[in-house]
Amino acid sequence: MDAPSALRNSRSETVLRLEWADGERQALSHARLRGACPCAQCKAARLRGVIATVDPDVRLERIALQGYGVQLVFSDGHERGIYPWDYLRELGGTP
Ligand SMILES: [Zn+2]
Repeated sequence: MDAPSALRNSRSETVLRLEWADGERQALSHARLRGACPCAQCKAARLRGVIATVDPDVRLERIALQGYGVQLVFSDGHERGIYPWDYLRELGGTP
C-alpha cells in the first residue's frame, strides 16, 4: 500500500491527520494510536485480554518514516510500534 499523500501531526489538537490518494481523510487521536500500538509487546498484552489503560494525555512526539509505514514515538517513552500504512487506514477515525 502506498504512503498517504499527506501526513500531519497536529500537536495542538493531539491528532495525527492523514490524507490518502483517493481523497479519504483520517484524524487519529494520539491516545487512540498509543492504544493501538502494533508492537509485539502491546499486541501480546491485548491478546491476553489485558486492558491497556492509555493515559489520555499521551502525546505523539515523533514520526519516523519506515517506507511501509511509520514508527511512532510517544511521550510515555514507548517507541516500539511500527504502524504499516494499511493498519493505520483500518483504524478509521473521521476527521
Ligand atoms: Zn507497543
